[in-house]
Amino acid sequence: MFTDKVVLITGASSGIGAESAVEFSKLEANLILTGRNKENLDKVAKQCTESSPKNLKPLVVIADMNKESDVENIVKSTIDKFSRLDVLVNNAGILESGSIENTSLEQYDRVMNTNVRGPYHLTMLAAPHLIKTKGSIVNVSSVTGMRSFPNVLAYCMSKAALDQFTRCVALELAPKGVRVNAVNPGVITTGLHMKSSMNEQQYEEFLKKCAETHALGRPGDAKEVASAIVFLASDGASNIAGATLPVDGGRHAMCPR
Ligand code: NDP
Repeated sequence: MFTDKVVLITGASSGIGAESAVEFSKLEANLILTGRNKENLDKVAKQCTESSPKNLKPLVVIADMNKESDVENIVKSTIDKFSRLDVLVNNAGILESGSIENTSLEQYDRVMNTNVRGPYHLTMLAAPHLIKTKGSIVNVSSVTGMRSFPNVLAYCMSKAALDQFTRCVALELAPKGVRVNAVNPGVITTGLHMKSSMNEQQYEEFLKKCAETHALGRPGDAKEVASAIVFLASDGASNIAGATLPVDGGRHAMCPR
């Protein structure tokens, strides 16, 4: 249960972040939902209130993770409203395709800023509050942080950096009672891939291919990642720190043969 706990989720306007918000709501958490799309955030907030046993209303904070003042405002608004923070879920992220032959420095900056610099900044600002509550952090990484894939170069690098960030910060904050972990999803059926560069037909083929690329023979759904995030944030994971947990239908363990 997360009764009286305060949980901050970035990228809560869709996909894994939205599903996690609903799962935390069912467990009575007070929520801060952030993202850029206000309409979507308001929809998710309504779903959360309906799922919450006490009909708790989340605080919605519109924020671009690439804007330093927006990131500062997330933490300020959280503390102004709830006076504490127990869980930080660094979930917001973008996917872009590109290889060393056709990428650009603009792409590198977009991906690294959103997927690494944003969480780095937010975690810096949230750490003092999480230390006070002996709270926890869950970073949403990817199987692409653990394994190497062609044509998603900046994305793979960003998630590998997030994995190392997870382990290093886990060691830095463990003596202060804060646990830091990550989930590493495989292909999950959210809007992420369509937002990158795939059209509908390419996406359909990509999902079909999951029968071979994932040991369990299928892509995952956002709820399956949300339940792992909730677990890592909960007291049930009280002896887990610095872990990068695959939620990928076994994909990380596979080798083509
Ligand atoms: P979605 O595209 O559905 O969600 C991404 C979220 O990130 C949105 O809520 C979006 O909010 C937010 N976001 C993106 N850029 C910014 C920004 N600059 N500032 C603030 N918020 C931002 O995809 P998923 O739910 O799939 O992705 C969530 C996380 O899961 C990502 O970190 C992704 O890398 C990771 N992941 C996803 C996998 C998959 O197959 N789907 C596999 C492995 C990892 P808004 O548009 O409102 O700004």
